[in-house]
Amino acid sequence: MTSIANHICKLSRTRRVLHTFNKRLFCADGIQYKAKIPQRLIHRHDFERFLTSYDNFFLDCDGVLWQTDHVTPLGGISQTIELLHSLNKRLVYVTNNSMHGRSMYVKKFKKYGFEAAIENIFGVAYAAAVYLKKVSKVTKKVYVLGSKGMVEEMDLLNIDHFGYGPDPDKPSWDPEELLKMEFSDDVGAVLIGFDEFFNYNKIFKAASYLTDNSCLYVATNNIESGVLIAPNRRQPLTACLVTAVTAASKREPVVLGKPNTLLFDCIVEQYPSLVKNRTVFIGDSLKADVAFANNVGIDSALVLTGSTTLEMLKAMPNLQPTYILDSLADLCK
Ligand SMILES: [Mg+2]
Repeated sequence: MTSIANHICKLSRTRRVLHTFNKRLFCADGIQYKAKIPQRLIHRHDFERFLTSYDNFFLDCDGVLWQTDHVTPLGGISQTIELLHSLNKRLVYVTNNSMHGRSMYVKKFKKYGFEAAIENIFGVAYAAAVYLKKVSKVTKKVYVLGSKGMVEEMDLLNIDHFGYGPDPDKPSWDPEELLKMEFSDDVGAVLIGFDEFFNYNKIFKAASYLTDNSCLYVATNNIESGVLIAPNRRQPLTACLVTAVTAASKREPVVLGKPNTLLFDCIVEQYPSLVKNRTVFIGDSLKADVAFANNVGIDSALVLTGSTTLEMLKAMPNLQPTYILDSLADLCK
């Protein structure tokens, strides 16, 4: 854990690099950044060559292992995972989803027909707990707008936290009522991830704690803002919550998730012999997964089972993967 924490210490440097990268990435003149042309993998021999090219397969979860609604299965995934295991490939799961901690992911994977060791799961709920405890060394309480999985990861590191679940105060617009609400005097950080109980009171409280500049502001990700879970139903995700608190507090958070390279630093610490040119990231998001792979200098494969369509890919010529796969399941065709 400590060694992972040491790598997380690189976060501030990583953020500066990322900022520079993003400026270059979105440069519209096409001069500073030479776009790659992705190779579409269609035939059996394409898949075979792809499989022999890499030893380490980093897998995003939502939109890759199951659909972006977090629930609906994708056909053939468990067979593909089995194939990769039988070929002695190293599988590492890297997710921005803060709904679950690592132990909950182990259980979820089992439900979908495959197994993963907890040490091969690198999620932002885990990263947030490590960041607060080992890097920032927060000793005061953490106000959490987050999930059960985030709380579980914090409990494992004995972090003093509060705020999970419904806010206890009755909602109000009235400043007199707002001033009667319950506040803690000893808050060292505000942490935001996915919070199904998010509401006006929580924005008010988070923004109020953040008026103290010594109070840290940490977010699991600011990329995933929402997903269609039915043709006319759009589920808001973590970035919406972060945007609300950022606007209310006039503070900018430290962001832990992809495309930030923090999670890669953690993985390298666990597998120091990992060879970058034998490593590929398979994901469904250009701005999170493909940008993450580009940032850390590894190849990437975009799957079309998630949040990105071919039309969206064409619209982002400066952010292209190494490969395009219709589905992860194609690998065992
Ligand atoms: Mg995804």
